[in-house]
Amino acid sequence: MRPVSSQRKIKFWDSVRGAFNDAIALLFPELCVCCDRALVSQEKHLCTPCLYHLPVTGFHHDADNLAMRQLAGRIPLNALASYLYFSAGSSVQRIVHRIKYQKGFALADYLGFLYGLELGKAAAFRSCDLIVPVPLHKKRLRWRGYNQSEWFARGLGRALSVEVITDSLVRTVHTRSQTKSNTRWERFENMEGIFQVAHPARLEGKHILLVDDVLTTGATLEACCIPLLQISGVRLSIATIAVTKH
Ligand SMILES: [Zn+2]
Repeated sequence: MRPVSSQRKIKFWDSVRGAFNDAIALLFPELCVCCDRALVSQEKHLCTPCLYHLPVTGFHHDADNLAMRQLAGRIPLNALASYLYFSAGSSVQRIVHRIKYQKGFALADYLGFLYGLELGKAAAFRSCDLIVPVPLHKKRLRWRGYNQSEWFARGLGRALSVEVITDSLVRTVHTRSQTKSNTRWERFENMEGIFQVAHPARLEGKHILLVDDVLTTGATLEACCIPLLQISGVRLSIATIAVTKH
């Protein structure tokens, strides 16, 4: 046990640190990602009104949801859910932009945790054994510094108490940005065969939750599923941060 004088010193410096942090927060308050309002101490990343008004899909309560129908017939899936509806100019566009381009990995993790608490209420997602985020090619990972899907996956994993595996699915080909391709089929041809599985034995017989940022055409997810479904006994479900409305 520390002597009393030493404990007093620790308490003193703790209170100095606390006062200093409060002063910094007053001078440079963290702002809401969506509306730029200064956050109060209990808020994280989003203010309470913006958090409350997020356009959630509720897909995890509906096995025949819009995204599932979009991919039906292309990928045999156990379940598919997206947290938010993405539309141009919306709060979700600001969130996704922050996550992808402005070092918003803590925001991705936070949203993953919130969504994981929701997914835990649905039996289809409670039965997942492992979480696998869609990987970036190592060149893009170096450029961006982090994989946004991996951070979302970590938040999900914490809420669902499921392990996140990041070294099994590997992106072996560096593709150009998909935004320049137009049709679903162009994109799919661009994506096919670019993912491989390392250590497939680890995934045998598992129910895998594959995690991506934004579901648009589904081409990336489809390309990921091809090698995963070649592993014996694998069942697949998908969770994404957002889904574009068509
Ligand atoms: Zn706000």
